Amino acid sequence: MRTPFIAGNWKMNMTHLEGIKFIQELGYEYKNKNNCEVCLCPPFIALRSVKNIIDTDHIDIKLGAQNMHFEENGAFTGEVSPLMLKALGVEYVIIGHSERREYFADTNETVNKKVISAFKHNLKPIMCIGESLKIRENGNAESFVLSQMVECLKEVDAKNIADLTVAYEPIWAIGTGKNATSKDANDMCRAIRIRLAELYSNSFAEQARIQYGGSVKPSNITELMSMSDIDGALVGGASIKLEDFIAIINY
Ligand code: PEP
Repeated sequence: MRTPFIAGNWKMNMTHLEGIKFIQELGYEYKNKNNCEVCLCPPFIALRSVKNIIDTDHIDIKLGAQNMHFEENGAFTGEVSPLMLKALGVEYVIIGHSERREYFADTNETVNKKVISAFKHNLKPIMCIGESLKIRENGNAESFVLSQMVECLKEVDAKNIADLTVAYEPIWAIGTGKNATSKDANDMCRAIRIRLAELYSNSFAEQARIQYGGSVKPSNITELMSMSDIDGALVGGASIKLEDFIAIINY
């Protein structure tokens, strides 16, 4: 049985002071009636402050980062390494978000290196894959997404798959207000699970969690979460609105 997993990606929003206020209020107000695993991914500069509040207020929320470099250290100005994230108490890391792919040159190859490095350092990757509108309109969404996944998982050991989260995020649905229908999202998540079973085994594929991401909001989360192969959501815009994020957790 997979635990539902709701992760909030704050993107480049909130100072560490705003982050502190948000996590304090969230910890005070949220009830988690579905016993979801909940994770917040603030910007790097807010990780420490958010983690302090999580610890001191005993808030049952995990900490995630939005990206990382695959190397442990070195001459990579502006980058953050898995060792640094681990030292801050980070448990999850978003890898290969479409915004990183589009604006910061992440490719399937670098995503693959980051996924391998994350597992090596006991960080759990939330690995993002998804098609553009053009690819969907051409009818190639499934083959594109599955081959993206296969490339990103090259040489990833089967023993790690239970700790893998795949976030299926159709690019055309991210930050646009347009979400995939729950049937389309579920069909893709199902195809992802079938391919995971082919790559590894049925039992590994049954353990991996698959999230949908793309304009998730209080009004569509319940239907999405009722689908057979959607185990959670990667939430962008709505994760920085306290009431919306609480409503999503309590779908
Ligand atoms: C995201 O950032 O991963 C995302 C899905 O954003 P939004 O929910 O705003 O579409």
